[in-house]
Amino acid sequence: MSTTAKVVNKPRPRHIPQRTCVACRHTTGKRELVRIVRTPQGTVEVDPTGKKSGRGAYLCQAQQCWQLALKKERLDHALKAKLTPQDKEALLEYAHSLAIPGEGGLGNGEKT
Ligand SMILES: [Zn+2]
Repeated sequence: MSTTAKVVNKPRPRHIPQRTCVACRHTTGKRELVRIVRTPQGTVEVDPTGKKSGRGAYLCQAQQCWQLALKKERLDHALKAKLTPQDKEALLEYAHSLAIPGEGGLGNGEKT
């Protein structure tokens, strides 16, 4: 991390890092996606903070993508790891906690 003391006050937004969902190939800002990491210990886990070390892969916040990624072993490929049934179970459990069941319709929340 290199931060300069100088405060730059430009209105222009900074470049947002783009990441690709390994399931649907949708590319978006990394904050819109959930990172899954293969830790140096060889376990695969969800990394909501995006700070864990290890090889990472990204998925939409849509259960559909998680199910697809697990079913088609996209995560195995992306992480170059063999996911154990326990890993998959934990990931699916996390997927179930996601609010969006289907494909990500933006701003389709309940309003009023
Ligand atoms: Zn996706």
